[in-house]
Amino acid sequence: MHEAQQLDILASEEFERNMVDALGVRVRPALAQARRERMGLRTLIDEMRGEIEGSMQALGLELRTPIFVGEFPTGSFNAMAYPVSGGVLALMSTGLFMFIYKFIKIMALSIAVAQFDERGRPIGGTETEDSGYGHDEIVRLTLALVRTYLRWRSTDRATYLAPSGGRKWALCERLVYECEKFVLAHEYGHAVSGHLEARPVVKARTDTGDLDVVQTDWQHEVEADVLGTILLLEPCRVVDSREKALDLNVRVAAPLFFFGMDDLVSRCEVALWRRVGAPPPVRLSHPPSADRARLVRQLIRDRIQGSSERAFGLADLFLNWLSKTSDTAVERIGAGA
Ligand SMILES: [Zn+2]
Repeated sequence: MHEAQQLDILASEEFERNMVDALGVRVRPALAQARRERMGLRTLIDEMRGEIEGSMQALGLELRTPIFVGEFPTGSFNAMAYPVSGGVLALMSTGLFMFIYKFIKIMALSIAVAQFDERGRPIGGTETEDSGYGHDEIVRLTLALVRTYLRWRSTDRATYLAPSGGRKWALCERLVYECEKFVLAHEYGHAVSGHLEARPVVKARTDTGDLDVVQTDWQHEVEADVLGTILLLEPCRVVDSREKALDLNVRVAAPLFFFGMDDLVSRCEVALWRRVGAPPPVRLSHPPSADRARLVRQLIRDRIQGSSERAFGLADLFLNWLSKTSDTAVERIGAGA
């Protein structure tokens, strides 16, 4: 592994204070709308590229060949990178952006904002921005989204849900963006590590026809996850303000939440196949999401010096929500709901 990939994050001791206060500092009214609905994906992809390449520069990493990034108009929840003449083409499927966006909009319905006491506990009666959605309703929305995806390999036909707005949406939108950026950083990880050179080319079936892509193995996927995570966390190498501490929390949460979403879709798919008595399709392109999440969590833990638990604060909240939602969703599919 490249020497410059070492990353030490110095979490500030000031991060005792609660996350909601930090959010209050960050949020400007303009952020409380869905940026992608105002700006379009092209602008977001360009922003992500700029940030990832900035991290590479800071780490002394160089691309051996130019990388071109584009939105790929298929509904699939994935991305791919492959060599073309003069460089590498990274394709981010529209469906990847849409699934993450639509799913995190559902999560936003479960979040309320409250004031916290000095021990970090929410103060009763101060909750605002509560949507009133209970666990049942959240699982129903989740199942509708996942079922639409599994049926059509696209979430286009899923019911439109308006972004909730407010401070909680500002937080959720940051998570959406960092999850997507992690996927792109993973593709950069393949390119930087030379995985796309001198490997056998295989056909990948897509909605728009077959593509010649590079066959990567699980070891390569692990390396791309490692490098992708390092690129994502690089701007938080030094945490010296509450905004930075919050930023670090969102960036730590992003890859783990992405793997959690992938795990939810896989588990629902397996449950659906089991229900009709057929063996579920085997997916071998990547290691199982739970294994990828374990590895990335350990990597982050190893590289954060000091207050690592606090860096996982948001991740643990989000993942706790995700695992409860996933468990009930899978249970309901199994029960024929
Ligand atoms: Zn990969």
